[in-house]
Amino acid sequence: MTKNSATPTIRPKLTPLDADNRDAMTAAAQHAISYRASLADGPAKPDLRPNDIAARFDGALPDHGETAMDVIDHIISDASAGIHPHTSPRFFGYVCGGSMPVGAAADFLVTAWGQNAASSWESPSIAAMEQAVCRWCLDLLGLPNTCGVGIVTGATVANAQGIIAARDALLKRQGWDVDEHGLFGAPEIPILIGADAHSAPLAGLRYAGLGLGRAIRLDTDAQGRIQIKALQHALSQCSHPPLVVLQAGQINTGACDPFAEAIPMVQAMGGWVHVDGAFGLWAAAVPELRDRLVGVEQADSWAVDLHKWLNAPYDAGLCIVRDRASLISAMSARGAYLPDHGETWEPSDSTLELSRRARGLPSYAILKHLGAAGVRAMVLRHCRLAQYLADSLQDQPGLEVLNDVALNQVAIACETDQITSQVLHRVQTGGKTYPSHGEWRGRQIIRVSIINHATSSDDIDTLVNDLRTALQEITQP
Ligand SMILES: *Cc1c(COP(=O)(O)O)cnc(C)c1O
Repeated sequence: MTKNSATPTIRPKLTPLDADNRDAMTAAAQHAISYRASLADGPAKPDLRPNDIAARFDGALPDHGETAMDVIDHIISDASAGIHPHTSPRFFGYVCGGSMPVGAAADFLVTAWGQNAASSWESPSIAAMEQAVCRWCLDLLGLPNTCGVGIVTGATVANAQGIIAARDALLKRQGWDVDEHGLFGAPEIPILIGADAHSAPLAGLRYAGLGLGRAIRLDTDAQGRIQIKALQHALSQCSHPPLVVLQAGQINTGACDPFAEAIPMVQAMGGWVHVDGAFGLWAAAVPELRDRLVGVEQADSWAVDLHKWLNAPYDAGLCIVRDRASLISAMSARGAYLPDHGETWEPSDSTLELSRRARGLPSYAILKHLGAAGVRAMVLRHCRLAQYLADSLQDQPGLEVLNDVALNQVAIACETDQITSQVLHRVQTGGKTYPSHGEWRGRQIIRVSIINHATSSDDIDTLVNDLRTALQEITQP
């Protein structure tokens, strides 16, 4: 099209950064800072009424847009009552890392720079910093520096990727090319997984087309660790090399499977061991905790979160595979339009995604801020605080700790399930702390996860006080 004097210039209403958008970005950053500053004092939970909150956002899309500043103002004022302080040092629910401020600050840059982190060619600084995260984490976790690593959204995807890499490699060893032929008519892969595994690797088995119904669930001990006898027996029944999924960090107890015994047994028959270490694998970084997971470094693949124990902002985790070629051949989607850069680390070769945000950058900032000693100290501190909590509850009649405190998870129960549920509800709605619900060995539990970088023994004292007060109010109204 040639432009003549009659053709108007085509120009969007928005410029890269007009005054309105500059104000909006400034307001968002200022709100972010004051939000974080206020977290330590407020109650753990805001007055969440899902339906009331939903009513603020259920209108139709208006025909006319609003200014950027009005939009940000609206989001902050209407959403705040429904923002749950997951990053508070007194939030003990699920297993949620505390999102360190330096990581959040780096995340601002991730968004502002808007790099497509798929390619080292297109975004060399991001690829270099993300590769440092991979190297540093392998080193901290005591895993070989030759492993393949993909930076993914979290342990669910990391487990799925590890399981897919295992599937492809196990079939390849039996002469089956899954890329070419798919799974129809493929040789069998027996699947063995503990009875107390997290739901994420079970989902991974489904995503990989391996079937859940045919997975053999291995009996576990009182802490949720697989029993070696059960593994031995199941292995003796396997007609083909199996995929065995083990766990570092059971969600209720923190217990880790007996890797040193189990892994060589599986590998001796040509099998593959994948470890779901979403939070627990970080204990491998700490000399004082290493006895919990002796031998874990012998596995074939591992899933570990960055947004849990490393306290990175959501979302980030690592899929680590001992044989880098297995990870890349399972994950790379390289087409003819992507330049071939030979041996350079190409982020997209190790993940399901092609285009993606630079989700490794916040972890780069956190690792550099803490240093190796800082990471070790944080993980060890959380485990010591968990033991401190268990010790503090010893002289609290009516509040029983059900697990051996192996890491940072504490499972608490009252005399009956009904009292447990009432105490939990009272603490969550009226207390200054926020544990969450679980079920362990047929009993309702109050599950406490100590994993926030800023949590101190004062916060644990507050939790104990909340639990004791709630129990008193319920049992002696
Ligand atoms: C949290 C968790 C997962 C899932 O990780 P996401 O980061 O939520 O995807 C898997 N396994 C264990 C043991 C976990 O604690």
